[in-house]
Amino acid sequence: MTKQNVVVSDAKSGLEITVGLTNTSLFSTTATRKSPIVTISRNNKLLKKLETGVVGVGVGGERINAWVDSMKASSPTHVMSPASFAATVDLRSWILDHPSALQMFEQITNASEGKQIVMFLDYDGTLSPIVNDSDRAFMSESMRRAVRNAARYFPTAIVSGRSRDKVYNFVRLAELYYAGSHGMDIKGPTKSSKYKKGNQAVLFQPASEFLPMINEINKALIEKTKSIPGATVENNKFCVSVHYRNVEEKSWSGLAEQVKSVMKEYPKLKLTQGRMVLEIRPTIKWDKGKAVEFLLESLGFANGNNVLPLYIGDDRTDEDAFKVLRKRGQGFGILVSKNPKDTSASYSLQEPAEVMDFLHRLVEWKRLSLRRRSRV
Ligand SMILES: [Mg+2]
Repeated sequence: MTKQNVVVSDAKSGLEITVGLTNTSLFSTTATRKSPIVTISRNNKLLKKLETGVVGVGVGGERINAWVDSMKASSPTHVMSPASFAATVDLRSWILDHPSALQMFEQITNASEGKQIVMFLDYDGTLSPIVNDSDRAFMSESMRRAVRNAARYFPTAIVSGRSRDKVYNFVRLAELYYAGSHGMDIKGPTKSSKYKKGNQAVLFQPASEFLPMINEINKALIEKTKSIPGATVENNKFCVSVHYRNVEEKSWSGLAEQVKSVMKEYPKLKLTQGRMVLEIRPTIKWDKGKAVEFLLESLGFANGNNVLPLYIGDDRTDEDAFKVLRKRGQGFGILVSKNPKDTSASYSLQEPAEVMDFLHRLVEWKRLSLRRRSRV
């Protein structure tokens, strides 16, 4: 088997992709995990700077270009066209490194031997399809059933960038934990659940002092961005999202300019990026990863090796949670994506329909194992 490494760089998006090519199918019997894998290095410095608020908050017009480049790098449709991406990156080799959670189902359930599985689920793009109108990101009734069933057997939390109220209105299951605003607004089940610790209600809002400031910047952003067709501002309680999914690309720099001018007045807030969204949030060290740690602790799994957390998400902000699981050496991150992405997740699922299959299988497996145990 001959091997060849090819480096493809896309100067526009700042992406550099190293592709290991072989003349043998990576799914053939000779393929092993030693096969060359795809490494994708985004323009990490740029994204980092943007996320720490370095880019654009100061003076200098060239920084707007950096914002726009980063907006392009974070939106999959502009990184590379699917055709050119497929031509340069072998999806199958990426999958070797991030195999399907459905195909690796047995390995996952084997790892849960003697442990309590705890489910963490992102909402948009994980339980619901990504849609142009974020107010209409409804989940299907069959997905709701799948999540409800999962929650019967495993403590289950929804971890979303949206406000807790908003994500609750989409999911409408009172037996779940909800971590809204990227984990800055956490609340335990309101309905009795066997995982609810006594009558003690879990409520945690580490950024409550920022509430007035968030409301203020929300108003300012609505005012400043109303001249940009398609731009929408969403108040997610402890953070504000500026969606540019419906903004023409030629207006992205104008939008970045407006957001930048507002942010200059708020040094205690920082900017992060999601899929087609700029997010403004408090500069506190709190993210979806911290929310996962907090919830595991609330459930009594702070220490010990008796828990297997599974986190399923599709977004850059979910990477904080994937990293926490890797660092703890506990459980698995599962990335929802059809395309190769730089990720700390262990496994992948292609789309929400596969997330639903995975939840069904997990429930079915648990039911069978409980039945088997009751016969012994
Ligand atoms: Mg998402």
